[in-house]
Amino acid sequence: MSFIHLQNISKQFPNGNQLAVNEVNLAIEQGEIITLLGPSGCGKTTMLRMIAGFEIPSHGAILINGQYVYNNKENIPPEKRGIGMVFQDYALFPHLTIEKNVAFGLNKWKIFEKKQRVKEVLELVGLLEYAKRYPSELSGGQQQRVALARALAPKPHVVLMDEPFSNLDAGLREKMRYDVTAILRKANTTAIIVTHDQKDAFAVSDRVVVMNQGIIQQIASPREMYRCPKNCFVAQFLGKTNLLQGKICPDMKHVDTYIGRISLSNQLSEVIDNVQISIRPEGCLLVEDGYYSGRVSKVTYSGEYQELEVVLGNESALNETMILYAPVEQEIELDANISFNIKPESVALVEA
Ligand code: ADP
Ligand code: MG
Repeated sequence: MSFIHLQNISKQFPNGNQLAVNEVNLAIEQGEIITLLGPSGCGKTTMLRMIAGFEIPSHGAILINGQYVYNNKENIPPEKRGIGMVFQDYALFPHLTIEKNVAFGLNKWKIFEKKQRVKEVLELVGLLEYAKRYPSELSGGQQQRVALARALAPKPHVVLMDEPFSNLDAGLREKMRYDVTAILRKANTTAIIVTHDQKDAFAVSDRVVVMNQGIIQQIASPREMYRCPKNCFVAQFLGKTNLLQGKICPDMKHVDTYIGRISLSNQLSEVIDNVQISIRPEGCLLVEDGYYSGRVSKVTYSGEYQELEVVLGNESALNETMILYAPVEQEIELDANISFNIKPESVALVEA
């Protein structure tokens, strides 16, 4: 039995014209850090709020730590579900010191134990020396660590975080991804983190749940998800990619496309007539005398690399373009003819 289990969860808002969450099934193990990733409006926050008990599902059941917290008979209130919530704006009490903020959820604890626990979690988030300060005297990153300490203090079964990094600027965001993950790991807690940012999701999670329009598209580890996206939506949501139509060759190791024959990294077990493949730009390597060739129609400099748009194919398919990356040192003129090879590991078969 999984630690947290969502069983056929759906949510229909009274005034919504489609399901905000549609038949979601998700099993989470103890200690796992999971992210719900998807575009704005896909149902991430609604999922989190149903797990927390702030929103009632229209259908389905939810188990936390092996117990039903919601089904057609049971609806345990949020404060009894053993969840720790970290809100996007941290929601710290401005008139309370950091230690009082952290102690807030511990009012039923004995005084000595409460003191011990507050010290313990402030130590865990590295803010013990700030105990007597007020939230306004702390930086954004520190405030977030206080919010996390407050959520962890009552030893919840699971910590829920809604867009924890979206209020932070780029540099701090990277640091907080690292800090938050390290704290959650040290606390050995299960966590569900909502984000619309693929980089957040990849940096912090054991497994990523990609959602679109209320429906789970794929559940996988970051590496597996990037390498083998299940469908076009996932492939495109996780970064730039080239989607091509093709036909699997009889040897089941290649796909014929308009740019030529493309090798797969694994032999397939069945021949499907028409397939789509996703080719990551970083898997296309510019070389002299490469197997594929084309004409550069756009060059965009990004600092770390330059992004090329390349027109490929024969006369009949002259409008087809691909995106490739080239090292910044390489001088590439507009309209230059280039050639490249494709690494089979960056090719994936995807559903439409
Ligand atoms: P996300 O967090 O992924 O951006 P949400 O869970 O907030 O998405 O919203 C999912 C869908 O449900 C959206 O179409 C949104 O407009 C709708 N929705 C969310 N909350 C409510 C509500 N209280 N009443 C009506 N519709 C809502
Ligand atoms: Mg949201």
